[in-house]
Amino acid sequence: MRNYTQFYIDGRWTAPVTPATAEVINPATEEVSGTISLGSEADVDLAVAAARRAFGSWSQSTVAERLDLLRSIQAEYTRRMQELGEAVTEEMGAPLALGTGFHVGLGAGHLQTAIEVLENFKFEEQRGPTLLLKEPIGVCGLITPWNWPLNQVTVKVFPALATGCTSVLKPPQLAPYSAQILAEIMDKAGVPAGVFNMVQGQGSVIGAALSRHPDVDMISFTGSEPVGVQITKDAADTVKRVGLELGGKSAWVILDDDQMAANVAAATSGMMVNAGQTCSAGSRLLVPNARMAEAVAAAKAAAEAVSVGNPLGEVAMGPVVSKGQWNVVQQYIAKGLEEGAELIAGGAGRPDGLEKGFYCKPTVFKATNDMAIAREEIFGPVLVIIGYDSVDHAVDIANDSPFGLGGYVNGQDRDAAIAIARRMRTGAIWVNGGFDFHAPFGGYKRSGNGREWGRISRGQVDHRLRGTAPCCQAVMPRPPPALWPKAGPCRGSPRPAACMGPTA
Ligand code: NAD
Repeated sequence: MRNYTQFYIDGRWTAPVTPATAEVINPATEEVSGTISLGSEADVDLAVAAARRAFGSWSQSTVAERLDLLRSIQAEYTRRMQELGEAVTEEMGAPLALGTGFHVGLGAGHLQTAIEVLENFKFEEQRGPTLLLKEPIGVCGLITPWNWPLNQVTVKVFPALATGCTSVLKPPQLAPYSAQILAEIMDKAGVPAGVFNMVQGQGSVIGAALSRHPDVDMISFTGSEPVGVQITKDAADTVKRVGLELGGKSAWVILDDDQMAANVAAATSGMMVNAGQTCSAGSRLLVPNARMAEAVAAAKAAAEAVSVGNPLGEVAMGPVVSKGQWNVVQQYIAKGLEEGAELIAGGAGRPDGLEKGFYCKPTVFKATNDMAIAREEIFGPVLVIIGYDSVDHAVDIANDSPFGLGGYVNGQDRDAAIAIARRMRTGAIWVNGGFDFHAPFGGYKRSGNGREWGRISRGQVDHRLRGTAPCCQAVMPRPPPALWPKAGPCRGSPRPAACMGPTA
């Protein structure tokens, strides 16, 4: 049992002002795995005050000082990777190999990337008669979701630290453990008092207090659209900046070529990674109508090959995060059937032999783009296959969505694939796989307004294509690497470990 009842405020482990606790449920067993404290506005006030005090000196720190600190954090993070991965598995149900591999590796990758970017970042630029300074924004409120818990925390905390900002982190209540260990790492690494603070608790209390707080300069939020809208409203009265990374319903276009069936299979397995709880998951698979039967067969075989079970075992898919999320997935499966979508694989209920735990069946529907299961984010292992008649038709379907977060195009003709990618209105697109920690991540439309990852973190510039090197085909359903490879562009050589596919 884990007992995480103290917050990290002003360089000290601090009891909540008003004691209150909540139990954390292990989604694989439905049993209590630990307890966290639930903070109040008073705890937020203390954390923000500490961050405000620390901003004066931290914003004036040198690049060398910040690099030293990031490297100390890196040493400590590396030492505790196994523990971090186990915490992710326990809090949100990712298979242990995924937790200790890809989940932890994403954090390691963002940390390494923050170091690389800081080493070369130009904070000053002479433009004609003007000296342009790029300055830290100030005190940042960082609010994160549970689905890739370490990824979301690290992609905010480390760039904030690197740029001279101070921060207050509010981790997800459903998955609070890995963030707590990260706070221990920051403490051990010697982060100066007040530069990084963490308060656990309910979003409607801690998140809202941060969003409204007059002494917070920016909110960086990753999570659902309704909460993003609420945060924007809450932040408006104090005119703070708000970066939103929200949901998606990303299209995955498979071109009509010799690799069509293999690409469909890889995309289907890819959809089931992290039990489909990935904001940029390719949850709408667009295949040529002329080859629909072949595509359906490939998707069915791939979905049925996904092993589901106890995340501590050798499985491809664990449970979804909570009873609530399980219910949402079941409701969408029922809705798909009601709307007349054709069930290809999976369906309602738990997989055979799993009586306890929030397990879902890897599910595939053949549907049309007007159905709710094709328009709304399900956030579970449910893939929708939609047929297209021509390239123009595929682009139209891809763009006919309220969201615009991720996108995928797979095909042997790389130029044709890139031409399609250019026409897709979405923030990030993977063409034939690939992975790059330096590529910007963020959405258009109702997927948000922010851009994160690499040097664009906290920036507002819209960059699009990512992973255009033809280094591998889509997502491979196998255990991820123990440690993410050194950050850098995919260079076209076969590096399957670097091509595990969509993240967060
Ligand atoms: P959520 O919006 O319910 O919660 C996200 C965070 O916001 C949590 O820490 C929560 O406690 C907090 N929160 C809740 N109410 C709040 C309020 N009123 N004010 C301030 N904070 C509040 O989302 P979730 O269920 O944790 O995560 C799933 C969602 O996140 C999905 O929609 C997914 O697509 C999205 N997501 C987006 C990205 C991205 O990069 N675009 C990445 C991962 C997840």
